[in-house]
Amino acid sequence: MVAFCSVENLRQYLNTVDLGELLVGLSTSLEETFKRWEEFQLIPRVASHSTYGVIELMPTQDNQRYAFKYVNGHPINTKVGRQTVVAFGVIADVETGYPIFMSEMTVLTALRTAATAALATKWLSKPQHLDRPLALIGAGAQAEFQAIAHKALFGITDFRVHDTDPDAVKKLQRNLSALGLNVSGLDSSAEAVRDAGVITTCTADKRNAVVLHDDDLVASHHINALGGDCPGKTELDAALVNRSDVYVEFEAQTRIEGEIQQLPTDSDVTELWRVISGEMQSPSGSEITLFDSVGFAIEDFVVLNFMYERLAQTSFVSDIDLLAEPADPKDLFGFVYGSSGGARG
Ligand code: NAD
Repeated sequence: MVAFCSVENLRQYLNTVDLGELLVGLSTSLEETFKRWEEFQLIPRVASHSTYGVIELMPTQDNQRYAFKYVNGHPINTKVGRQTVVAFGVIADVETGYPIFMSEMTVLTALRTAATAALATKWLSKPQHLDRPLALIGAGAQAEFQAIAHKALFGITDFRVHDTDPDAVKKLQRNLSALGLNVSGLDSSAEAVRDAGVITTCTADKRNAVVLHDDDLVASHHINALGGDCPGKTELDAALVNRSDVYVEFEAQTRIEGEIQQLPTDSDVTELWRVISGEMQSPSGSEITLFDSVGFAIEDFVVLNFMYERLAQTSFVSDIDLLAEPADPKDLFGFVYGSSGGARG
């Protein structure tokens, strides 16, 4: 049997815990795992593109556990009442190859993306960025989780938001004001970022969009750019990317999918884990630090293992009958057609 966490069970579990505390714990778990980055098998995700969007498989393993996530990215979906991103994932035991845990990952992706962005803010921002409001460009499915992670890690309570869809801003205001956070809706990105320290861009459009122009930024900032995550799908002005000190998850994947698609292939970038592990110094002199995030398999590995530790032995997981296990492992036929079924007792 394989332990399974459904959408409904995850929803119920999250309603029993403090989301901020959970995101702090997840961020710590990501930080610890980024320190042992070199123990992991690193491969860019396998992407299947179509005119509608993309469907991706994101695998990795550390020689003890293997994990993969199935995830899509379909910006047109919200127009017909569907989500841009849905996902599920699996952890398996490397020694036997047997899956041990399967979970919904649409919500888990939002959690790990928020915890990863907050971790990037921790290592790449400057203290003066954290005393100011956070600008959110894009108020969609990821937005609340981004705000709550930054509240939990840094105490940020003021958010300046721009989205082309006024209803998305109203939704964010409604959800965050219930948690005591202040959300101001602004008519443009330039206005949203004016007094901000940290900036998060998280918009969805399957093209090279510019949601933040270079001349929108006249001060020092840390940017978490999350929405540009496919070939031909970027969010930032190339001039802004060009003048930023750029950090990425896994360079080989980000060259294909991130904002740095817009730069020469030998442009300077640093993988975030190198800063977290102490191999490289945190940035000090740069005016703009940019975390060009596309989402990497190790983040999914971490959130799946984190949730498995928390949920195993609780009523929020159930067993699913996913693996055929004949009593005689060589008699799969007898297991299916034999009179006793031949299942392991
Ligand atoms: P969503 O569709 O729920 O929200 C996107 C929001 O962006 C919408 O409210 C839309 O109105 C707004 N928007 C679109 N164009 C805009 C523009 N020019 N200016 C301002 N707002 C604009 O999507 P989501 O689930 O919140 O995801 C957002 C993006 O983040 C997607 O592109 C997704 O692929 C990406 N993503 C990245 C990661 C990562 O790890 N880096 C993880 C999850 C999602």
